[in-house]
Amino acid sequence: MTKAKQPINFYQSVDNFFEKAAPHTCLDRGILDQIKSCSAIYAINFPVKVTDPKTGKREVKVIEAYRVQHSHHRLPTKGGIRYSNHVTQSEVMALATLMSYKCAIVHVPFGGAKGGVKINPKDYSEEDLEKITRRYTYELVRRDFIGPSLDVPAPDYGTGSREMAWIYDTYRTLRENEIDAAGCVTGKPVKIHGIRGRTEATGRGVYYGLREACGKEEDMKAIGLSKGMQGKRIVIQGFGNVGTFSGSISQDEGDAKIIAVGEADGFILNEDGLDIAKLIEVKAETGSIMNYQDAKKFGKEDRNKVLELDCDVLVPAALENQISVNNADRIKAKIIAEAANGPITSAAEEMLLERGVLILPDLYLNAGGVTVSYFEWLKNLSHMRFGRMDKRYRQQGRENTLNLIGSMVGRKVDNDIFAKFAKGADEIDLVRSGLEDSMITAYNVTREIAKEKKIDLRTAAFVNAVELIGADYMAMGIFP
Ligand code: GLU
Repeated sequence: MTKAKQPINFYQSVDNFFEKAAPHTCLDRGILDQIKSCSAIYAINFPVKVTDPKTGKREVKVIEAYRVQHSHHRLPTKGGIRYSNHVTQSEVMALATLMSYKCAIVHVPFGGAKGGVKINPKDYSEEDLEKITRRYTYELVRRDFIGPSLDVPAPDYGTGSREMAWIYDTYRTLRENEIDAAGCVTGKPVKIHGIRGRTEATGRGVYYGLREACGKEEDMKAIGLSKGMQGKRIVIQGFGNVGTFSGSISQDEGDAKIIAVGEADGFILNEDGLDIAKLIEVKAETGSIMNYQDAKKFGKEDRNKVLELDCDVLVPAALENQISVNNADRIKAKIIAEAANGPITSAAEEMLLERGVLILPDLYLNAGGVTVSYFEWLKNLSHMRFGRMDKRYRQQGRENTLNLIGSMVGRKVDNDIFAKFAKGADEIDLVRSGLEDSMITAYNVTREIAKEKKIDLRTAAFVNAVELIGADYMAMGIFP
């Protein structure tokens, strides 16, 4: 049996992508070196008394954690906090680096950051997770590594709105005079200064990006596919927040067919399409996608084979380094939509590009989360819900116009038309509209750069991001 090659380190992979793009920018080496390096790294070990997952005893455990601020060219810095046993400093550095480029591409005015706590959240009770989260936040506050104008965390792999609420509550307790305290973290529950549409944002952004890519007839023709999302055969690896929303929105709004979904315990396949709403229910009730009835099932030992299924679009929505030189030549998808961060290594990407696979890169495709985080932060700083001031005013104006049209044509406008056209925008309408516009604009800019320079989409996205950040450094006069 041939031994599998060790996949290239994630941080190294991000650096390789950067260096591939660097010659296509107009920036000097010094600026490039500044852009790619991590500006500040905070590594912590702190003690917490918790129930040990192995012994079941209450004991002190030392928790390893990080916060990396990749770039201070704009403040605050921004990026999620990951809870996973795989967390390392190098992984958090890679993720923080991607955040800077991600923000630049969708014109979110933040530097990139990322946090990591080396725990498996499934090993701990809710009380212990709260204790760990509050202690981690305290450590960040102590060193000014969190704050609405400094560094603003958000959810990532293994965390969600519950953890963000604990972070906010700890921060405001320690900084009681901070009027903008709610802007210290995003992804909070809607009732606790969150914003409607944040939970679905990354998945919805993946859908908008994929729909935009599939809407380009000549690009689809080049890979032997028809234009549009309708009927596209999609395979999803990872059924957490991003995987579920990418899948359900692609199915409900794009009329695509999700033929397979994989997780750590195996994958399920149905060529006629899975019912994603049902699958979400099954997972919530039983804890596993494998209890879904109407599909062929493949167990844990075959879980990685989900990536190799014959399909139009493969959506890796789990962790980094999933597609490496070890399996790249067996990937059959025509499009790979990177919903996760770093699912393809730089070496594997070369093999896939050679075969003409269209890769929608993470730094563009999963930027929907941070885009809506930006809206949440703006809402927190303005202390007001979007639409609150002008919704009624605009609605009234439209009603007047429709009434006027009615009186001119001599009959009342139909009630359903009236309701549809007169309606003012709610917060969720505005959030979705802002997200959709950001994803469409960014895709077209990236595609233009790719075409003009005859480079792939990832390299084009890096060129765009690096030049935008470089322009900031020049404007700051650091490199006159
Ligand atoms: N963790 C998400 C990401 O990787 C969201 C970051 C944010 O909203 O700040 O993009």
